Amino acid sequence: MNGRIFEYNDLTRSEVVRAEVCVVGSGCGGATVAKCLAAAGHDVVILERGGYYPTRSFDQDELNMNAKLSDNRSLKTASDNTTVLLSGHNVGGASVHYWADSYRTPADRLQLWAERYGVAGHGLVELSPAWDEISAALHIHPAEDEYFNRMSELVRDGSRKLGWRGDRVPQARHNCQKSGHCMQGCVYEAKKSQLVTHIPAALALGARLYADVRAAALTTSAGRVTSLHAEVIDRPSGRPGTARLTVEAKAFVVAAGGYNSAALLMRNGFGRQLPKLGHGFGFNPSPMVHAVYDEDIVLWRNIPAAYGVDHFRLASYAHDGSYLEGGYLLMPNQLQPGLLAASIPLLGAEHAHWMQRMRRIGSTIGWIDDHPDELGHIELNDDGSSRVVYPYGPTTSAMLRDLIKKQAQLHLACDAREILVAGARALRVRGSKDLDAIDSLEVRAGGLLMGSPHPSGGCAMGRTAHDSVVDSSHRVHGFSNLFVADSSVFPTAVSVDPSLTIMGFSYLAARHIVDALR
Ligand SMILES: Cc1cc2nc3c(=O)[nH]c(=O)nc-3n(C[C@H](O)[C@H](O)[C@H](O)COP(=O)(O)OP(=O)(O)OC[C@H]3O[C@@H](n4cnc5c(N)ncnc54)[C@H](O)[C@@H]3O)c2cc1C
Ligand code: SF4
Repeated sequence: MNGRIFEYNDLTRSEVVRAEVCVVGSGCGGATVAKCLAAAGHDVVILERGGYYPTRSFDQDELNMNAKLSDNRSLKTASDNTTVLLSGHNVGGASVHYWADSYRTPADRLQLWAERYGVAGHGLVELSPAWDEISAALHIHPAEDEYFNRMSELVRDGSRKLGWRGDRVPQARHNCQKSGHCMQGCVYEAKKSQLVTHIPAALALGARLYADVRAAALTTSAGRVTSLHAEVIDRPSGRPGTARLTVEAKAFVVAAGGYNSAALLMRNGFGRQLPKLGHGFGFNPSPMVHAVYDEDIVLWRNIPAAYGVDHFRLASYAHDGSYLEGGYLLMPNQLQPGLLAASIPLLGAEHAHWMQRMRRIGSTIGWIDDHPDELGHIELNDDGSSRVVYPYGPTTSAMLRDLIKKQAQLHLACDAREILVAGARALRVRGSKDLDAIDSLEVRAGGLLMGSPHPSGGCAMGRTAHDSVVDSSHRVHGFSNLFVADSSVFPTAVSVDPSLTIMGFSYLAARHIVDALR
């Protein structure tokens, strides 16, 4: 590598760093934009608040890796206490613990963004060449037979029985050893996260990466950002040390991820000029349904999801506009034993009884395609930390019930013995006679246990400063050298796993930044 990674123990004194472009965040958005800019010959500095963990340091231990890779150890929830906010906190961002499902953005979603939200230049014509290049670099291909664990086979067979359309999930991996540790980071470098693809590519092209460095304050003058001030985080304590970095650059790119980019700009007062900052926020609420089978499932081996059901990706509505069904992807779930135990909504002997049959527990999960009229927003607490407020409106709640019911139906079609909905109160389904109970499931604070791995919005792309935060060149309205390149620019959720959409958009963002630097 020609570039270099600096870590907290290299950064003991305050200093000024100069570069042409400063990128905040090293996930799918930041790493991709940094690689493209470095490839165009620009001097790039990447700031990442989390640590640099080379793959050789991965130990496949659930707790250790969760502490290293996951923001807030996956313990922070939205303000409803129901939805666990899942994102990355390390070099490579969430891609290091992601599942590597790699869908291209559906054409209908790009069309919606263009027609309803005024997103220009981000259609299939512009994105396809970028996706072709990324797909080659990340070895993206449909999952082969050998990567179907028992749960993926059941989702395939059960959904076919029910007449639901599905397909092999496109995967970003090569030489996968089927260890089942994707969420703990891949020690074999088989999973093509940013840590082993765009980050080393950017470094090889001369980019410098500062790990353990948290961007805090942007100084602006006459519609330009002139410098960025950052804290060096003492990794063992997780607290800021005494050293500070000041970065002076010609252009600044915020790629701090869906949970953080809007918050960073809000802390810096950008909301005064940009009323939509922090708004239009979605996170694909993801309810899980567990089931006990008469055979071994062993959820925690092989890849998480070789087969996905996209039959219900788009919600359907009656003539009068009332919700009928759908609005989600339905997938096999993968949980290591610790997380599986934590998500079983039982106590004492009942919990032990389920865990004794741990090898026979199967599980499914689905991503709700956040309804555009029921999106949430990000707020700042008094101490500057951020809070996600999500309304769980009537259509979203109906979608959740429908998704939970469809998951239970699928388990029943596969002859599951007993089904449990993951939530505060155990809802059991032992046969089709119990399915109707799901229709009255209350979606309320602390009710269901859900993940939210796919944040979107907060810095939405659009036409003007009144309806959006960035324009179609990813530039923050009113600032000539400030750009956003991550999932926060999406006007709505993507309706499929978002990593390839993020990377494709970041390719296009890099082109606009190159133009701005001319
Ligand atoms: C468990 C899990 C599984 C997933 N599986 C899939 C999948 O199979 N397919 C898929 O497409 N998507 C998946 N996703 C989602 C996907 O990983 C993310 O959408 C994507 O990686 C986000 O990229 P990003 O660059 O927008 O943000 P992030 O990856 O969150 O990167 C942002 C980075 O910015 C850093 N940062 C934040 N604030 C600051 C600051 N102030 N200063 C410096 N750095 C900062 C963060 O530490 C982080 O590393 C999964 C997510 C999770 C949690
Ligand atoms: S299942 Fe494959 S890609 Fe995932 S961690 Fe194991 S070897 Fe790596």
